[in-house]
Amino acid sequence: MVVGVLALQGSFNEHIAALRRLGVKGVEIRKPEQLQNVSSLIIPGGESTTMAKLAEYHKLFPALREFVKMGKPVWGTCAGLIFLANKADGQKIGGQDLVGGIDCTVHRNFFGSQIQSFEAELSVPKLASKEGGPETFRGVFIRAPAVLEVGPDVEVLADYPVPSNKVLYSSSTVEIQEENAMPEKKVIVAVKQGNLLGTAFHPELTADTRWHSYFLKLTGEVGEGTSSSIVAVEGE
Ligand code: GLN
Repeated sequence: MVVGVLALQGSFNEHIAALRRLGVKGVEIRKPEQLQNVSSLIIPGGESTTMAKLAEYHKLFPALREFVKMGKPVWGTCAGLIFLANKADGQKIGGQDLVGGIDCTVHRNFFGSQIQSFEAELSVPKLASKEGGPETFRGVFIRAPAVLEVGPDVEVLADYPVPSNKVLYSSSTVEIQEENAMPEKKVIVAVKQGNLLGTAFHPELTADTRWHSYFLKLTGEVGEGTSSSIVAVEGE
């Protein structure tokens, strides 16, 4: 069994390397028919407009949507999360094609541009181990999106406080509200809906493979190096 990694653009090599560290083979996916050879898929971070243009060029969208509809596990990191959202805000002009599947609205560049990229400790109870291993995870946020709204079937796995210098764009009205009006506001940075997983940050750029292990548990694909101590994925 292998895990497909969409390899149009972005951090696909890093995902394949992380899977390898867990003893699992990741294969590059560039054509619709290649999706037939895999039972799960990772959509990496990168730049979602570029990735969407390439996906359009390679006629991948119908096959990707079908893959999601079939209930196969798909994990999107950063630009990949944007791909999996049902709705994206924060477009400069017009929109872009999305695969969709997670009932949420993302803001594509919520945390700002490249120079506003940052790392932060996140609290992720799902990553804690039975033996009392940490639930914190160091998130690498690069021109990162955030999830602004979720539907009732979406499970929130991690959130993060809105930076104090940040204005919050309401997804439905695109009105800007001053941050001072809601000092405690947090935005969602990791979500799960059924077999779909989305993270606004880049676990593939860290040495910590717990998110990859978590995804492999969703797929039923447990690699040799996968920590058996991660709490089992509920309902799977
Ligand atoms: N904000 C970027 C986008 O719109 C995603 C950034 C990333 O994947 N590191 O595609």
